[in-house]
Amino acid sequence: MDLDAITENAQRIVDALPEDVELVAAAKSRTVAEVMAAIEGGVQRIGHNYVQEAEAMIPYLEADVEWHLIGHLQRNKAKKAVDLFDVVETLDSHRLAAALERRCAAQSRSMPCLVEVNSGKESSKTGVLPGEVRDFVEGVAELEHLEIVGLMTMGPRFGDPNEARSYFKATRRAFDELSSLELPGVSMRYLSMGMSLTWHVAIDEGANVVRIGTELFGERD
Ligand SMILES: *Cc1c(COP(=O)(O)O)cnc(C)c1O
Repeated sequence: MDLDAITENAQRIVDALPEDVELVAAAKSRTVAEVMAAIEGGVQRIGHNYVQEAEAMIPYLEADVEWHLIGHLQRNKAKKAVDLFDVVETLDSHRLAAALERRCAAQSRSMPCLVEVNSGKESSKTGVLPGEVRDFVEGVAELEHLEIVGLMTMGPRFGDPNEARSYFKATRRAFDELSSLELPGVSMRYLSMGMSLTWHVAIDEGANVVRIGTELFGERD
C-alpha cells in the first residue's frame, strides 16, 4: 500500500475510534517509512511482535510515540525488551515476570505490563487461562518494578467477528473482577482486545485499546 493511503487509513481509524479508546498500530513486517506514514496520520502507539523487528526500527525512528510489545516474549530477550519498549502487553508467565523485574530493577525503571489472557483456552496459544488470571496477577503484582495496568487478549481469528465476542466477554469479566479487588501494584486501566476484523466488537465488549495492522497498512505478504 502506498504511504499516502496508510496516512489516510490512520486518520480514518483514529477519527472513528471513541475518544477513550487508544489505537496501537500493529507493525509486524512493516517498514520504517510505512510506520512513519501511520504516525503522520495520527498514530501515537506502535506495537511490535518481535524484539528483533523492534530493534531494527525503534532506534531509527525519531518520533514521540509509545512502543508496545504485543507478541510473546522469550525470557532471554527480556533485557532487550526493557531497553526498547514502553509497555509490555504480553506478560504471560511468572518466569518472564521475574526476568523483566530483574532487568527493570537494574535500570531503576518500572515497566507497565498487561497480562495476556488465553481467552480461547487454546493450548497452541500463549497467555494465562481466564480461571488463573487472578492468582497470576496477585503473584506478579508483588514485583516492585512491574506495574500491572491491564489485560490483553488475542481471541480467535475467525471470519465472523461475532465469534470473537465470547472471548472478549471472558476477558472483560476477568478485568472487572481484578478491578474490584483493588490489589496493591495493580491498576486495571487498559483492556487491549480487537484487531482489524474485530475491533468494533471488542469496543462493544469494553476494550479501550485496539491493535490494528491490516486495516491500517494493508494485507501482509
Ligand atoms: C498482527 C497483530 C494484530 C493486528 O492484526 P490485524 O488483523 O492485522 O489487524 C494485533 N495484535 C497482535 C498481537 C498481532 O500480532
